Amino acid sequence: MEPKFVVSLDVGGTKQLAAVVNSESGVRVRLKKQTTAGHSHEAFSRALVELTNEVISLAEIKPEQVAAVAVGIPGSVNMETGVIGLAPNLGLKNYRVREHLKDLLPYPVLVENDVNLAAAGELAFGAAISKKNALVVFVGTGIGSGLIIDGKIYRGSGWVAGEIGHIKVAEKGPKCGCGQVGCFEAVASRTAIVRDISELVKSGKPSTLKSKIEKNKEIKSKVLMKALNSGDKVTIGVFESACKTIGRVLAGVNNLMNFETIILGGGVMEANETFMLPRIVSAFKKYSLDDAAKSVEVVGTDLRDDAAIYGGIALTEEFLGVKV
Ligand SMILES: [Zn+2]
Repeated sequence: MEPKFVVSLDVGGTKQLAAVVNSESGVRVRLKKQTTAGHSHEAFSRALVELTNEVISLAEIKPEQVAAVAVGIPGSVNMETGVIGLAPNLGLKNYRVREHLKDLLPYPVLVENDVNLAAAGELAFGAAISKKNALVVFVGTGIGSGLIIDGKIYRGSGWVAGEIGHIKVAEKGPKCGCGQVGCFEAVASRTAIVRDISELVKSGKPSTLKSKIEKNKEIKSKVLMKALNSGDKVTIGVFESACKTIGRVLAGVNNLMNFETIILGGGVMEANETFMLPRIVSAFKKYSLDDAAKSVEVVGTDLRDDAAIYGGIALTEEFLGVKV
């Protein structure tokens, strides 16, 4: 029998990653594309269908070898109905995405929150293997998390569990994509970091990022890494403040949950782990209950960009009972 594969789509706020994967041979092919913001529901699904067909053709596998298409969405997703509740960074709300995709694709479609998918990947193949209780946090365009409790992804009573990015950290903080103000992700995501650096530079603070900001160029995680490495004071200051907030929020969540492991990933985190991780850990320890801090390790992701891709394998087994 020919081997089966999962097509995993990780739809981020800025980029979409598609891959054909199975547990036997790992990632067969991967494809990365920019996410076009502000599209309609229909255009969003059409883009996913195109991406799926393209990656299947690149992998040179037959349609009957596709066990499922697993889609990770940055927002709340009801896995039973396949409805996206709210994905603020994609501009999607109350969208029956699975129903729509089912009409357009001849494969079973699974839709899941992107960081839950990454957590499922880390649990089956990465830094959370054999862990009973873990938190996976991804810092990127927004901040999301996946909760592993008793060795399983915990999705909550209304499929919203893990929305760590919308914990309020400031009474009168910046506006968040969810409509409220002062959310964790509006204060400490890459988007927030870039916004804060830009404001400081525009107010006259010297920075190596000045010309990029003046020309309105996109500031990616790797550009931030260069600014940090060059000792840019504005960038360092903003990052230090973001790391403090991240450490403080993680300490609060861990005081409540008492995890074994906290795994940190996401674009900005992965590009700047050497700078960010020790500062996050230091703030984490400062704001934690001693015993809660002692029993947990705070580490970087094992699978990095591929965490959600591998999560597609775990999801296919959990929801379709198919080992891939
Ligand atoms: Zn929010």
